[in-house]
Amino acid sequence: AQQVPLPARTRIMTVVNQKGGVGKTTSAVNLAAALAQGGARVLVLDLDPQGNASTALGIDHHADVMSTYDVLIDGEPLASAIATSPQDDRLQVVPSTIHLAGADLELAGMERREHRLREALDRFLTETSVPPHYVFIDCPPSLGLLTINAFTAATEVLLPIQCEYYALEGVTQLLDTIDRIKAHLNPTLDLSTVLLTMFDGRTLLSRQVVDEVKAHFPTQTLEAIIPRSVRVSEAPGYGQTVIAYDPNSPGALSYREAAAEIARRGAA
Ligand code: ADP
Ligand code: MG
Repeated sequence: AQQVPLPARTRIMTVVNQKGGVGKTTSAVNLAAALAQGGARVLVLDLDPQGNASTALGIDHHADVMSTYDVLIDGEPLASAIATSPQDDRLQVVPSTIHLAGADLELAGMERREHRLREALDRFLTETSVPPHYVFIDCPPSLGLLTINAFTAATEVLLPIQCEYYALEGVTQLLDTIDRIKAHLNPTLDLSTVLLTMFDGRTLLSRQVVDEVKAHFPTQTLEAIIPRSVRVSEAPGYGQTVIAYDPNSPGALSYREAAAEIARRGAA
């Protein structure tokens, strides 16, 4: 596989959009897999109680496994919850479990409630002898405390936008939230990357959304656009990313292009 340029420091990318079903999880796992295939060490943190990222990466996430819940709520070391994806030994995962469903409420009553993920990740990155080049955080579809923990821990925000009606709906609220995070919790957080997903070239609507999003986010929007493709949606059913499941499909090719673009930008 084509090697990607590696960043000098760990890039921590939180994949956020408070709308569900826009391709957050699909993008997080496929970009992670593509970067790992390109030679990067990648760690995926699953912060969605649904655990779809864990599933797609072939990681067990029944209620008893060590998970992001143990790290966030019980203060367990992140290293103790890391599993390696059977797809690629450069691809590691801290899964989520169903316990995470109550974490937003539990966090509300805790000390340093917005900082818990950042503190756990900082400690891990300082202590490990082989730090990942990339950390991808897959967020739930809300702007609650789990997502706020991800914003606080991250260096960059990656915003997937689905090529559908109301594509930019909710984006103003998201940008306001990012501004508040920068003012109070994480001054250097950068909305660096916008990725268009589920593009259907046959429809005028899809092409209009591309133009609208590029006008709104001229420097952030990646040239690579992810097409709507059955193979992409089938892959998780086999516990795989589309990168592993059907490496030559259009979805896999586009995710590899998007990953290469992300890597090039970060090296610049
Ligand atoms: P989110 O994490 O934002 O809720 P998902 O990544 O889970 O969104 O995607 C929502 C649904 O759309 C899933 O069933 C997924 O398999 C499907 N999907 C995502 N991207 C594509 C694509 N490019 N082509 C076809 N289906 C897709
Ligand atoms: Mg998801």
